[in-house]
Amino acid sequence: MTNPIEMRKIIPPAFEQTNLGEKILCYRPMKHGMPNLSIEQMGSKVIAHNYGHGGSGWTLGPGSAKYVNSLLIDSALGNALTDKSAPIAIIGAGLVGLFTAYDLVKRGYRNITIYAEKLDALASHYAGGLLAPVSMDNDHEMQAVIDQIGIDAYRFYDDVARNKNSDFKQGARLVPSYFNSREDSGLEAYVGKVMNPAKEVMLDFGNGTTRKMVVYDDGIFMNTALLMAELHDFINVHHINIVLGKIHAFDELEQKFIFNCSGLGAAELTKDKALVPVQGHLIMLKNQIPENMNYMILVYFGEGVTESGQKVKRSFYIFPKHLPDSAPQDIGVIGGTFIEGGNPDKPNLREYDSIIDEANAFFGIK
Ligand SMILES: Cc1cc2nc3c(=O)[nH]c(=O)nc-3n(C[C@H](O)[C@H](O)[C@H](O)COP(=O)(O)OP(=O)(O)OC[C@H]3O[C@@H](n4cnc5c(N)ncnc54)[C@H](O)[C@@H]3O)c2cc1C
Repeated sequence: MTNPIEMRKIIPPAFEQTNLGEKILCYRPMKHGMPNLSIEQMGSKVIAHNYGHGGSGWTLGPGSAKYVNSLLIDSALGNALTDKSAPIAIIGAGLVGLFTAYDLVKRGYRNITIYAEKLDALASHYAGGLLAPVSMDNDHEMQAVIDQIGIDAYRFYDDVARNKNSDFKQGARLVPSYFNSREDSGLEAYVGKVMNPAKEVMLDFGNGTTRKMVVYDDGIFMNTALLMAELHDFINVHHINIVLGKIHAFDELEQKFIFNCSGLGAAELTKDKALVPVQGHLIMLKNQIPENMNYMILVYFGEGVTESGQKVKRSFYIFPKHLPDSAPQDIGVIGGTFIEGGNPDKPNLREYDSIIDEANAFFGIK
C-alpha cells in the first residue's frame, strides 16, 4: 500500500499594490562554461580568479572562496604564501571578495587589502537568498567540481543556521524549499552528503488551489543583506583595509598576489567574452504576516520575449527576505526573470507586472 501524499497548508501572501515595496533591477555575472576558478601568472603578478557565478553566487560563495584560495596556496605559484604576512590584494567587495577575505583570515593571513569600485547596492545585497545551484551554464565535465563547492558552502550555512559558527549568527536559516521537480532544484547532488531526500507534497493554499510539488525540508535561506553586514563586521574587526576605486589593470596594484573577485567587472578587467550579465527583476513585499512566510518556492514558466525584444526565461520565486532595520511585517521578495545580455538601457519594466501575474496565478489568487 502506498502512503497518501502529505498535505501542507500555505496561506498565500498579499500582492495588492499596498503590499509591494521596492522594485529592483540587477545583474547576475554568468560565465559560460563555469565560473572562472583558476590561477594565472601575468608578468610579475599571480592572479587567482573567482568570478562568474551567475544566479548562484551565494549558493557557492563560501565553498568557492575556499576552493580558489586552496588552489593558489597549494600551488607552486603560491609558494611565497607560506609567509602569512605576505601582502594580498582582493579586487571586489561583493560576497565573493568578502568570503575570500574571510577564508584567508581564518587561515591566518593578516596583510589583506580589498579594492572595490562600489561597496553598496551590489548584486550581492539584492540577491533573493535561495540556496540552489541555478542560472549557471556549466560544462558537463566541470559539474562535479561545482557540486563539491556547493556541498562545502551548504555545510558553512548549515553551521550558521544551527548556531555553530562563531563569526556568523543570523544570516542563514533552514527553511523548506519547494520546486516542481527534483531536477529543477539542482540539489540532488547534495542529497545523502549534506541534505535529506526531497519528498512529494501537496500544497493547499486554502482558496481551492492545490499544487503537487517536491520539498527539501532542509533547504537554506540566506538573508543576503544580513550576511553582507556580517561579512563587513568581520572585515572591520580584523582590520582589513578597504580601498575605494576602480582598478583598470592588475599592474596598478603593488601586491604580487591578487584575487580577482570583480563579478561583472571581470569582463573589462580580463577581457573575458564568456562572462555575460543576466538581468533579473525583484519586488520586495510589505505588510505580510511573518509567520506565514516560512518557505521558499521556485517554479519555472518557460521562455518568452520582453517588450524590448529580448529572450527571457520566466520563473516565479518567493523567499522570506527581511532587510535589517525594517518592520517585521515587511518581509518577502518575489522574482524572477533571467534575461541574458540584459543591460540598464533596456530595463524591461513590464516584467514586474508579469511577476505579479505569475505570483497570483501560482497561488490561485483571483
Ligand atoms: C535578481 C538576482 C537574484 C539572485 N538570487 C540569488 C539567490 O537566490 N541565490 C544565489 O545563490 N544567488 C543569487 N543571485 C546571484 C548572486 O547575487 C551573484 O552571483 C553574486 O552577487 C555575485 O557576487 P560577486 O561578488 O561576484 O559580484 P558583485 O556583488 O557584483 O560584486 C562585485 C564587486 O567587484 C567590484 N568591482 C568590479 N569591477 C571592479 C574594478 N575594475 N575595480 C574595482 N572593483 C571592481 C564591484 O564594485 C563590487 O564591489 C542573484 C542575483 C540576482 C541579480
